[in-house]
Amino acid sequence: MLNNDGKPKKIIIVGGGTAGWMAANLLASKWKTTEICLVESKEIGIIGVGEGSTPHLKLFFDAINVADSQWMPRCNATYKNGITFDKWSTIAGFESYFHPFAAQTDDIFTVPLFLKNIQARMQGYRVDAHPDNYFLESYLSKNNLGPLPDESFPFGIAYGYHFDSALLGEFLAENAQSRGVKRVYGTVADVLVTKDGKLSSVKLNDGTLLAADFFIDSSGFNSLLMQKTLQVGYQSFKDNLVNDAAVMMPSEISPVLPVATKATALSNGWAWQIPLRNRFGNGYVYSNNYIDSNQAETELRQHLGLLESDIEAKHLKMKVGRVEKHWYKNCLAVGLSQGFIEPLEATAIALSFNTIGKFIQYFEEGKGTNKFEDAFNKEINSRFDDIRDYIVCHYKANQRTDSDYWRDNAANKNISENLSKILYLWKNSQDFSGDMHKHKLVGGYQPKSWACLLAGYGVFPRKDSDQTFDYANHQHEINGLSDFIRRCGLNFKKHSELLRL
Ligand SMILES: Cc1cc2nc3c(=O)[nH]c(=O)nc-3n(C[C@H](O)[C@H](O)[C@H](O)COP(=O)(O)OP(=O)(O)OC[C@H]3O[C@@H](n4cnc5c(N)ncnc54)[C@H](O)[C@@H]3O)c2cc1C
Repeated sequence: MLNNDGKPKKIIIVGGGTAGWMAANLLASKWKTTEICLVESKEIGIIGVGEGSTPHLKLFFDAINVADSQWMPRCNATYKNGITFDKWSTIAGFESYFHPFAAQTDDIFTVPLFLKNIQARMQGYRVDAHPDNYFLESYLSKNNLGPLPDESFPFGIAYGYHFDSALLGEFLAENAQSRGVKRVYGTVADVLVTKDGKLSSVKLNDGTLLAADFFIDSSGFNSLLMQKTLQVGYQSFKDNLVNDAAVMMPSEISPVLPVATKATALSNGWAWQIPLRNRFGNGYVYSNNYIDSNQAETELRQHLGLLESDIEAKHLKMKVGRVEKHWYKNCLAVGLSQGFIEPLEATAIALSFNTIGKFIQYFEEGKGTNKFEDAFNKEINSRFDDIRDYIVCHYKANQRTDSDYWRDNAANKNISENLSKILYLWKNSQDFSGDMHKHKLVGGYQPKSWACLLAGYGVFPRKDSDQTFDYANHQHEINGLSDFIRRCGLNFKKHSELLRL
């Protein structure tokens, strides 16, 4: 049933992890006449990982009108300019690269020069085509500068965060309740369905029956409503992305807080390092087909210098893929219940935010009907698939040969048609960015991001051109670029100063 304004009278959200509380906050701030109730199970608890974000988390907080100063200190949060990918390549000069979030300075000056020099490098000229030298946010990270410029700096800059996921959940729960969301503790034991296959109510294990007009499934990997009850199909990504497990442990924070996540390639996967105000969050994402959990834990401890430490490690299994429909009948799946792509690009929160935001838009446009259900599902599916392709590209382009894991990943033929086309263009196009647009290959990631990844690993032909090249002019342009970036950098404060919020 709908209210007079076309919004559902009552919504039940099952699950009180980050996804459930994000949905509660957004719905409460947009649909003020809807009664919202969130049910969460203390027995089951939350997954409790996921401590890095993309700039979408900033958009989410903007949408619910919460400033950095209100939530960041409560969640031990720090700023994030991007991700450093370390040891994914063994090519000299490309052992590490930084992937920045977008800034307006990219498009007006730095990226055109980057793309121009990539083309020259493709032709065998020994020009500078390492991404670290072309992006303002790389400079900020290297110099421990936070992403908030002085007001006089006229260019926009996107940024993400690192945060304690349990504290973020608590903050969001409190905020949603202050906006009228009802919180119920209980474990859903049964889900009741009407004759026409819609959800009607959930029954808790103490017998309480909670009915609603619309349901949000945020029950995590359980996917209680969407997959278990409504039997919506699931598309696994395990042929494309082989990692299926992770081991995690905290470590002591460094005196200088980095402004970036670090993703270091290890023998059979990669390790994250996420700086919070009070600790580093660390984890090793790997494939059980190549190493077992004990080996992974030992390798992570070695990597962290914690071999002798009694800090406890937490082990997790990961299911990688997505549902075929995220909105079906009177149910929307948000968070791990709708799917998960391994955390290399920290995209899960972004996907949850996109899912809820787009759903609100389509539901309103369809005046409370399912008119736009198909369009919505197509759009969310392609967001998932775009991210999958981008992450697969990291593995495909890796330049390590020290284990079967890395060799198999580089040789993996299970890649999408879009990714094959992008890799073809990288090698063959004279205008990578223009051709990506021309062939409609630009989805969630812009050409500059693909170029950053492939150039970052040094995926260039191993040849030297015997044609003459104006190296003096090239050097002049590179000098101008670094001077421009350095002077932009004068408008930014140290990360530690920004965190005195
Ligand atoms: C190794 C790893 C690293 C990750 N890193 C990142 C990252 O850096 N950035 C990022 O954005 N994301 C990351 N993620 C994903 C991130 O953890 C999740 O997207 C996020 O925590 C949201 O989870 P969720 O709310 O969907 O599920 P959960 O946190 O699992 O919450 C599920 C909720 O449903 C409840 N529930 C389940 N069954 C029932 C039931 N029967 N009755 C009542 N309640 C029930 C649970 O009690 C819980 O409250 C990572 C994930 C993994 C596995």
